[in-house]
Amino acid sequence: VTLDAVVAVDVGGTALKGALVAADGSVVARRDAPTPAAEGGEAVAHAVVRLATELAAVAGPASTRVVAAGAVTAGHVDTSAGVVRFAANLGWKDLPLGGLLAGALGVPAAIDHDARGAGLAEAVYGGRGADCLFVALGTGIGAAHVRDGRVAAGATGAAGELGHVPVYPDGDLCGCGQRGCLEVYASAAAVGRRYAAASGKAGRAGADEVVARLGRDPVADRVWADAVEALAIALATSTLILDPGVVVLGGGLGRAGRALLDPLETRLAARLAWRPPPPVELAVLDTDAGWLGASLRAWEAAGSGPPARVTPVTRVV
Ligand SMILES: [Zn+2]
Repeated sequence: VTLDAVVAVDVGGTALKGALVAADGSVVARRDAPTPAAEGGEAVAHAVVRLATELAAVAGPASTRVVAAGAVTAGHVDTSAGVVRFAANLGWKDLPLGGLLAGALGVPAAIDHDARGAGLAEAVYGGRGADCLFVALGTGIGAAHVRDGRVAAGATGAAGELGHVPVYPDGDLCGCGQRGCLEVYASAAAVGRRYAAASGKAGRAGADEVVARLGRDPVADRVWADAVEALAIALATSTLILDPGVVVLGGGLGRAGRALLDPLETRLAARLAWRPPPPVELAVLDTDAGWLGASLRAWEAAGSGPPARVTPVTRVV
């Protein structure tokens, strides 16, 4: 029996994560590759197509048949057009990534924003119910509101930029040109940068180092409290607009676990006077969320429902 399968790629700033997922939920193959970001946008696009082609080649004619491809990437992703409008870290401007993948593999291809893909994966494979707001706290901060298995991408594909919601109107300058953005205070990168600046230590501390110092380093405590407060303000706003069933925290900062969850629940409740806060939980899919999300978009492009669950990785090629 020949099983249908999809090729899925998570395009990150430093690494590409790919998988070949079969309709029975088995992961036929996983393969990663470095992102050649320093070589420019064309080289990155080439590397993505090469990885997808290599994964498709793993599918044997007697066992699996590739029916679609999916990719998720950072940046401004126009999902309906299959075009990455802009991705600074990847050197892409108006790149027709969907068309490139479809052309190389000879199957339909879908692309999406990485936070939207990860949110979709958390909703479907993380057992989050019908309505979930996923927040990726990484180098930047992105969000995805998933309702009944669908993510709202917005009119131009720019929905979910929670990191650039102003939490302090005249606050610090953000790389995006606005002031007081959430990302300036509460991304993993910001926590490290603000600790290094406040403690007078040269270079950059990792957010995990700041977390490790909590309770015995007043500077770490202050930087962390600032991050939690900024996040509580942004989540209070999101809660009032979207009324999510659950808020799921992922990305590097999500790995702080209860050190993040406990104070955040307190501050979010304090920021909402007349309604209870939604439950806040930690993401469970970790670094697999991206390619799992890409696989879900691929199944959609194939016109078939996704496997109900995906089994652990069987073979890294
Ligand atoms: Zn900003």
